[in-house]
Amino acid sequence: MKNIAFVGLGNMGLPMAKNLVKAGFNLTVFDLARPPLDEMASLGATPADSASAACADAEVVITMLPAGAHVVGLYLDNECLLSKVNKNTLLIDCSTIDTESANAVHSASEKLGVSMLDAPVSGGVAAAEAGTLTFMCGGDQAVFEQAKPVLSAMGANIFHAGGNGAGQVAKMCNNMLLAIHMIGTSEALKLGKNNGLDPKILSEIMLASSGKNWSLEKYNPYPGVMQQAPASNDYKPGFMVDLMTKDLGLAINNAKKTDSRTPLGDVALELYKKKQNSGDGQRDFSSIIELLS
Ligand code: NAD
Repeated sequence: MKNIAFVGLGNMGLPMAKNLVKAGFNLTVFDLARPPLDEMASLGATPADSASAACADAEVVITMLPAGAHVVGLYLDNECLLSKVNKNTLLIDCSTIDTESANAVHSASEKLGVSMLDAPVSGGVAAAEAGTLTFMCGGDQAVFEQAKPVLSAMGANIFHAGGNGAGQVAKMCNNMLLAIHMIGTSEALKLGKNNGLDPKILSEIMLASSGKNWSLEKYNPYPGVMQQAPASNDYKPGFMVDLMTKDLGLAINNAKKTDSRTPLGDVALELYKKKQNSGDGQRDFSSIIELLS
């Protein structure tokens, strides 16, 4: 499978597409914005005028779009991509979306005999650039095996979470936990600082203690503690407050439908909505620490 169409070249899609070119795949690309198309063209990819044109001769179609409405709009409604692709094409949607939208595209694909995988990712822009993303995939085992060589060019950990939509469920659970430990980490660092501790030294202590977690280790929310973290770059994303609020909304809506109790997830969503409503939707999600001042 050498010919890949990649649709959605944003913060995540662009570095993912670059890694596919680096791995030797032939890429045809489409985005609503022109600059990433020009950037991909300079690396040898072929820009297309529409998603349908990009996907016409593709063996694999990869989409990396903001939300469920964009994915349903592309595959089923506005662009009707599903009815235009070759029956042997493998569809891989890497966007983080609600399970209903993912399952709607899966069902429509099954009816047409087209293979599809929901394959959201974790790791953020840095992992997308380094080709070390974690993929969590939902769909048939055989389709997962077929997709693995392509996903391996963009990621270091490739998981089969289960059947249709299972990748989105895994991603929803992971991001709810991420939001909770980012808020918890921020609270601990602020509490220590307000008691006269140096946040850098407190971070080192907690990293060697039972408070260790990903937010503290890789993405410290306190400015100046970790030079490469968004906190040390005026909270430039990274992963925007808007996207975290969206992901928490997916988890909390799902929790209601499945009778799951998520009290900390509920509070996290309230805090992120508050941050979003204060005009900070485009800042990195670790800026939630500013709500604690
Ligand atoms: P983004 O907004 O930077 O990129 C989305 C891109 O999709 C944009 O370039 C936009 O022009 C394009 N687009 C939208 N509709 C389109 C259409 N119909 N046809 C073609 N292009 C279209 O978002 P992102 O940060 O790259 O995130 C993409 C997805 O990945 C989201 O679902 C997000 O939740 C998920 N995600 C993001 C991160 C992160 O750190 N940013 C990490 C993991 C997962």
